[in-house]
Amino acid sequence: MDRPLTQNIRADRDFATLADYRKTGGYEGLRKAVTDLGPKAVQQWVKDAGLRGRGGAGFGTGLKWSLVPIDPAPDHPPYLVVNADEMEPGTFKDRLLLEKDPHQLLEGIAIAAYAIQAQTAYIFLRGEYRLAAERLTRALQEARAAHYVGAHLLDSDFSLDIHLHTSAGRYICGEESALLNALEGKRATPRPKPPFAVVSGLWGRPTVVNNVETICNVPHILRHGADWYKGLGRGADAGTKLFGASGRVKRPGLWELPMGTPIREILEEHAGGMKDGYQLRGFLPGGASTDFLLPEHLDVPMEFDTVAKAGSRMGTGTIIVLDDKTCPVRMVLNLERFFAQESCGWCTPCRDGLPWTVTLLQDIVEGRGRPEDLDTLAGLTRMLGPGNTFCALAPGAMEPLQSALKYFREDFERYIFQNRPLKEAV
Ligand code: SF4
Repeated sequence: MDRPLTQNIRADRDFATLADYRKTGGYEGLRKAVTDLGPKAVQQWVKDAGLRGRGGAGFGTGLKWSLVPIDPAPDHPPYLVVNADEMEPGTFKDRLLLEKDPHQLLEGIAIAAYAIQAQTAYIFLRGEYRLAAERLTRALQEARAAHYVGAHLLDSDFSLDIHLHTSAGRYICGEESALLNALEGKRATPRPKPPFAVVSGLWGRPTVVNNVETICNVPHILRHGADWYKGLGRGADAGTKLFGASGRVKRPGLWELPMGTPIREILEEHAGGMKDGYQLRGFLPGGASTDFLLPEHLDVPMEFDTVAKAGSRMGTGTIIVLDDKTCPVRMVLNLERFFAQESCGWCTPCRDGLPWTVTLLQDIVEGRGRPEDLDTLAGLTRMLGPGNTFCALAPGAMEPLQSALKYFREDFERYIFQNRPLKEAV
C-alpha cells in the first residue's frame, strides 16, 4: 500500500533531512510545477486529484486556490498561510508531519504558493510545538541554501519567502479568521464572514489558509499525477489520510491509511482493539468537537460524506474512544470545560452559553441535577448551534453534548434520579 505522507518517517532516525527527503523524490514536484506547468495547471492538477482539506471542513483544495485572483495588482499580491495551530483535543496528526518530515511541508508550501502566485507564506505554528519549530527552522535554512525557497527559486521567475510564526497559544487561533487577526498582531477573535479570506484575508489581501496535512499531500500529486492520487482512496474520497486513535485501546497512535478505511479496521487492526477488561461504548470520530458514534457505526468508512451520513463528522480523523468504564457525562463535562475556557467571548451565545452548560453538567455529576436540566441542555445545543455564532467553536462544542444526550441519556438520568453514575463508571 502506498503511504506517501509518511514514506520518510522511519523508526531508525529522528527526522528526514534535506538529503533524506531528496532520496525519495523530494522537491521534484516543485521543479515540475515551476518548470513544466503554470500556476493554473497546478491548480487544475490538484482539483483533478480531488484533494479535500484535511483540517476538518473537507473543502476542495484546488477549488479554494482557484478563488484567488491569479493576476493581482502588483501592490496587492495574495498570501498563503499554513494552519499548524493543532490544538483540537485528541488530535496530533500534524505534529507528526511537522516534526518528522518538515521538507514535505515546505515543498507543499512552495507549490501551493506558486499555484496562487503568493510571494510570501506564513506557517502559523502552535506555541507548544517547540520541537517542530526547531526542525522547521533548520529545514527552512536548508531549503533556502538549496534554492527551493527564496528569490527566483530553482532559476524560475517565481520568488517566495516563508516565515515561521509561533502562536501565543489559544484554541481559537486555529479558526481561520482569528488566526489571521493573530498574525496581524490583533486580538484573536474570528472575523464576520463574508468577506472570506480568499477575497480579503491577511492585511486585507486575498489569502489562502490550508492545513498542514492538506499541504503535505500536494508534492505527491505533482510527482505522481491526479489519477494515481485518486486511486489511493478506497471509496469516493481521494488519497490517504493520517487516522488516529486515543483512549483505552491497546495501541493508541497514528496510521496513514486510504481514505474510506472502515472505522472498525482502524480501531481493531491498527489500534489493536480495546484494552483487556474494557468494552467499546462509543467514540468521537474526528476529535473533541464531533458527535459521538456507537459500536453499530464501526463499519462506516472514514470519509467526509459517509461519517456525516452516520450523524457525525470525520473532522481531523483522530478517534477518541469511550469505554464502558468511563462516564460519558463526565467526559462531556471535561470537554465543555475546555471549550468554555477557550471561548473568545466575541458573541453572547458562546460566551454565556458554554459556562452555563458547564454549570448544569457539574450540578448533574455532583448530585444537584434536576430533570428539567436535560431540556435546558438540549435547548443550549440548539441555541449554540450552527448559524447563531460568529465561528464554529460553539457549534462544535455542542456536538459531543447533543449526541451524548441522544445516546447516553440513561447516564444523565441515573445521576439525576439515583444520584450515581451507571455501572462503575468514573
Ligand atoms: S462562537 Fe465562541 S469562539 Fe467563536 S466567535 Fe463566538 S464567542 Fe468567539
